[in-house]
Amino acid sequence: MNNFDIMINVENYRKIILELNKIALVAVSKTKPVSDIKELYDLGQRDFGENYVQELTEKQPQLPADIRWHYIGHLQSNKVKYIASFVHLVHGVDSFKLLKEINKQAEKANRIVNCLLQVHIAQEETKFGLDEKELEEVMNGVAKESMPHIKVIGLMGMASFTDDMNKVRNEFRYLKGLFTKYSAHSSFTTLSMGMSSDYKAAIEEGTTMVRIGSLLFGERDYIK
Ligand SMILES: *Cc1c(COP(=O)(O)O)cnc(C)c1O
Repeated sequence: MNNFDIMINVENYRKIILELNKIALVAVSKTKPVSDIKELYDLGQRDFGENYVQELTEKQPQLPADIRWHYIGHLQSNKVKYIASFVHLVHGVDSFKLLKEINKQAEKANRIVNCLLQVHIAQEETKFGLDEKELEEVMNGVAKESMPHIKVIGLMGMASFTDDMNKVRNEFRYLKGLFTKYSAHSSFTTLSMGMSSDYKAAIEEGTTMVRIGSLLFGERDYIK
């Protein structure tokens, strides 16, 4: 292959866009070069997701300003200040303390930052997120405390890493149930669930936003 070959999977991109219909697509570009992001941008993609603060802050100034950057990793409070001036949506908020810090940094940047609360739906202990009771506590906090520089617009979750699609589907269904419950009395618009391996199940279970990386950009190579 020479340098002029397109490295992204254009065919998958077109297919996924059709399958998604009105569902939002976040193209997960972690570990991938800005040239790959630009290829997908040129096909019309505007929402991109990154997991690492340093990688995101390096890429963002090199790419068009109308990209909507999604932070989909586990965000540490002390790193919020590096992304608050431009991030479009923070997907993985898992504490009230983090929400307060995002509000504080967004105020400094004179912005309103959209946030999703991450719910722990998978079997694996290693995955982050709130349980149902903690979610309720955070939602109560949001209702009581004035935080004009954040907007909690929905929920995010990651299903178990398994081939058992019934299990994945049940986890998505559970998250959708919580989303519906809180939608009734909040400004919820966005349910972020579904990745390369399980986005079809997520569509069937009522997702409004999927986060897809490897199907668009190819497998990730962490040994660089
Ligand atoms: C990496 C990642 C994705 C994308 O994973 P693929 O399997 O490559 O589609 C989605 N969501 C989160 C939170 C991720 O960390």
